[in-house]
Amino acid sequence: MLNSPGLPTLPAVAVQLLEESRKPDVDVGRIAELIASDPAMSARLLRAANSSFFGFRGEVASVSRAVALLGAGGVVSLALSFSLADDALKAGVTADAYRAYWRRCVVQAAAAELAGDLPGGAGEGELSGKGDLFLAGLLCDLGTLALLKAVPEEAAAVWAASKEARVDPAARERAEWGFDHAAVGGELAQRWGLPERLAFAVARHHETPEALEAARAGGLLPAPAVPLVRTAALASAVGDHFCGPDAGPALGRLRETAGALFGLKGKALTVFLEDVRERADAAAGLLEVDLGQLGNPADLLAVANEHLSELATRRSAEADALADRHRRLEAEHRDLQQQSLRDSLTGLYNRPYLVDALRREVAVCSRTGSTVGVIFADVDRFKAVNDTYGHAVGDRVLRAVAGAFAQVLRRTDVPARFGGEEFVVLIPRPTEAGARAVAERLREAVAWTCRTVGGIAVNTTASFGVALAVPTDLPDAADKLLAEADAAMYEAKKTGRDKVVVRSLLSPAERKLHAAVAARRFSRWLSASGAIAVRDVGEALTDLTPPDVSLGALAREVGVLDEVQTDMIADVQEAGERFGEAAVRLGLLNHEQLAELLARQQENPRALGEALVARGHADPAEIEALLDAYAAAGPSFTPLERSVAAVA
Ligand code: GH3
Ligand code: MG
Ligand code: MG
Repeated sequence: MLNSPGLPTLPAVAVQLLEESRKPDVDVGRIAELIASDPAMSARLLRAANSSFFGFRGEVASVSRAVALLGAGGVVSLALSFSLADDALKAGVTADAYRAYWRRCVVQAAAAELAGDLPGGAGEGELSGKGDLFLAGLLCDLGTLALLKAVPEEAAAVWAASKEARVDPAARERAEWGFDHAAVGGELAQRWGLPERLAFAVARHHETPEALEAARAGGLLPAPAVPLVRTAALASAVGDHFCGPDAGPALGRLRETAGALFGLKGKALTVFLEDVRERADAAAGLLEVDLGQLGNPADLLAVANEHLSELATRRSAEADALADRHRRLEAEHRDLQQQSLRDSLTGLYNRPYLVDALRREVAVCSRTGSTVGVIFADVDRFKAVNDTYGHAVGDRVLRAVAGAFAQVLRRTDVPARFGGEEFVVLIPRPTEAGARAVAERLREAVAWTCRTVGGIAVNTTASFGVALAVPTDLPDAADKLLAEADAAMYEAKKTGRDKVVVRSLLSPAERKLHAAVAARRFSRWLSASGAIAVRDVGEALTDLTPPDVSLGALAREVGVLDEVQTDMIADVQEAGERFGEAAVRLGLLNHEQLAELLARQQENPRALGEALVARGHADPAEIEALLDAYAAAGPSFTPLERSVAAVA
């Protein structure tokens, strides 16, 4: 775009005038001569000099008199202004945009000129004081003109779109092209050899006060250019206010710019805007532009407020739509995630998810020294069901099996369809007897549920294999558990089907220890004491989060070991040896204490008590009393258990 051959060039006379005006000792006679060489320009200059804008007394009859009155800079400014007019743009696609462009230019020129009188205004300028300011305001939107000339259709379309959508044209340009008219204008001003500060004013007239300050502080904006750039920024904000399509935000921008750059606020700002209105009328005559009726402050304010409230409504509608979309995406995301975890036929977890969950459980239990249980199930003589009743009935049987599983299992168990008619359930932290009991209940539930399926007496059963391990010193524990459970299931098939076979990977010592741990659990004590129904205790247990505290930390917390001792144990732990084992070998804990620590680690009595309260199975006072009673009369009460109850 910036290299487009369609960008306007400056008439030869204007170029020469610029060159002449930049010389250290300006030759006024030479300037008058140059203007006189162009009859059209001479005529316009004389008309302008006689317009109400300047308000000279008596007729200005000659170019040399005009030059004498206006000064070299003023004359050059005017000559440049005239050069910008382009009759070709007055008709066709660009007509509306071009008219709007000039209207805005005139307002901006008037505002810039008047800004010179403000405290902190740009004052005397390089070209000729106010002429310089006037020109800065007039040239702000030079880029718009260039774009209208270079790419008439696109530029007119962008202008129309910004008007239609009531958004800042510069923003629309950036969205459409990646640059705006300020950038184009700045480039053109440089090419035309306009004074540097004027080029800066053109290039930066859309920037916020903060951005300008940052540019100045960062050395991107030379100090001599600052007053003119600030003036252009104010002029542009005023132009937006009177002529821009986005009345609401434009008023905010104007207040911010006028306040920050010129300390212009409240009544003073209103007065300034009134002055601009009048001055713009005069400037319109000077530049032979039809300004139409500029809005008065009260009307403009009303329009701005209306626009702002409209914007607020639109934004909240957009926010609602966005929130809606967000919710929809989240739901979709959840569904997708579920799909990737779930088996589509039965709704149970799928094999990858189960393997993943098993590996995670193995990792946690390796650290805590607790048990992991896997139940492997395979439907009995399933091929016969398919062969006899068809695949569809077979599918229904598989769904019925899944339904039976759902009835029996706890929330913390992970049931999965492992493939075909094989199912696997991960049981976190079971005892051997507990895992067997779960498998038995599953077996019964399947046999019961699958007597008849869809009105057909299929009488289907399943065979179950259970494997149990403390995975600490068991490399590839997840694979070994699955293989062992599969082998156990195979044994169940061989020995009659519709039965459960358990294979424990626990050593005799581990079995003893875990039996002791189970005996020391609060849940067990609660159930045995009859204070709370077994079912309620079971439900509350499913609410407990798995333990993630290490045995060493727990032992320190409870006070059976100190830091030196737990460090010592950690130091001497031999390959694969668990913390508890090492502690017992070193004589720092006895088996009783270890069992109690493990029980405490796997089931925090207070947490279980809170879960019971949360489920409404007991009130807080009742639980306190039970915790006290448990601490005082627990099955194998030791100092450790007492201290656990005290800390918990
Ligand atoms: P066993 O008691 O020894 O396990 O006998 P079985 O017939 O169940 O064992 P086998 O492994 O020989 O047969 C399993 C059958 O399960 C074969 C296969 O067609 C069927 N099957 C696997 N997946 C599906 C499925 O998604 N839907 C249906 N309807 N059948 C399936
Ligand atoms: Mg099979
Ligand atoms: Mg089978």
